Amino acid sequence: MNHVEASVAGQRVELTSYVAAETVTGSKHLLHTPNMDILIDCGLFQGIKSLRRKNWDDPGFDVDRIDALCLTHAHLDHCGYIPRLVASGYRGKIFMTAPTRELTELILRDSAKIQEEDAWKANRHGYSRHHPARPLYTLAEVERSLHQFVVVDADVDISLGEQISMRYIPSGHIPGACSISFTVYDRKMLFSGDIGRTQSGFLEAPEHGPLSDFVVMESTYGDRLHEQISAESELQDAINTTLDQGGNIMIPCFAVGRAQEIIRMLFLLKADGRIPGEVPVYLDSPMAAAASEILLRFPEWTTLSEGECRAMMKSVVINERHEGTIGIIRNRKSKIIIAGSGMLSGGRILEYL
Ligand SMILES: [Zn+2]
Repeated sequence: MNHVEASVAGQRVELTSYVAAETVTGSKHLLHTPNMDILIDCGLFQGIKSLRRKNWDDPGFDVDRIDALCLTHAHLDHCGYIPRLVASGYRGKIFMTAPTRELTELILRDSAKIQEEDAWKANRHGYSRHHPARPLYTLAEVERSLHQFVVVDADVDISLGEQISMRYIPSGHIPGACSISFTVYDRKMLFSGDIGRTQSGFLEAPEHGPLSDFVVMESTYGDRLHEQISAESELQDAINTTLDQGGNIMIPCFAVGRAQEIIRMLFLLKADGRIPGEVPVYLDSPMAAAASEILLRFPEWTTLSEGECRAMMKSVVINERHEGTIGIIRNRKSKIIIAGSGMLSGGRILEYL
């Protein structure tokens, strides 16, 4: 937990970040101003078991004190604790952009489903220390929290109360993702959320926030520089080398944001004749397929037109069902498979190994 205090127009403003040391998940920042308390992001701890167990702990702040929750984007480490917050009694508004709303609904429902299944398995096989094992939250609790979602536009000032307003500023991380700038009295405080690359080729570059008095910045990769390489060229070489050897190309990736970026790259490589046009591309991730559908409704958050988005999605074969996965594996011809899981540590991609 990190805590700072400042004096703004003679009034005390406090910021407390409820994050665990040495981790990048579970993002929750509480901004205490003279007139209201605002929670920025409400993320789930993810990763090793000791971290995930923290999701069961008291969040460390008084839920009844919170007047508003402002969400930067839809990734689980920023939104995944919302149903638990609502189950703990939070009844206020939950602000977010339109794409974030749709993606968050998708991600939270999926999260509840996984947790309900895990609890069911633990009870069936008796491997939990808790009797009965319970999910962190249920699908019903997710549905209840969705009623508190309020969509806001980016790039407009929104008044939250006396002497406090906010502005969502697109951050180029995933569709709908924004930094949030708060104006408290005459001071500006910027919460970056996750920030995308300036040249993603797929999403619009992050917009600059206003000159700010305080900046709270996510810095997952803050201690290293990304290599200045062409991702398209690397992908092209890897694909062509593998195809020459008669192999399959497996691309494990996160379902929201990264999967669509990869699909776009493959689409362009085929269009430019840099990889064979006839090699089939399978998207074997129901979550990525659903996220892509949502993306089609918000092309303005990407560098693509609606027509290009549709053409890009038509270039892949979407597989939703497990039987389909077996069929793809049995097909001996070379292919490209995009499947769930970021680090080959779980999800459908493991079926192909
Ligand atoms: Zn993120």
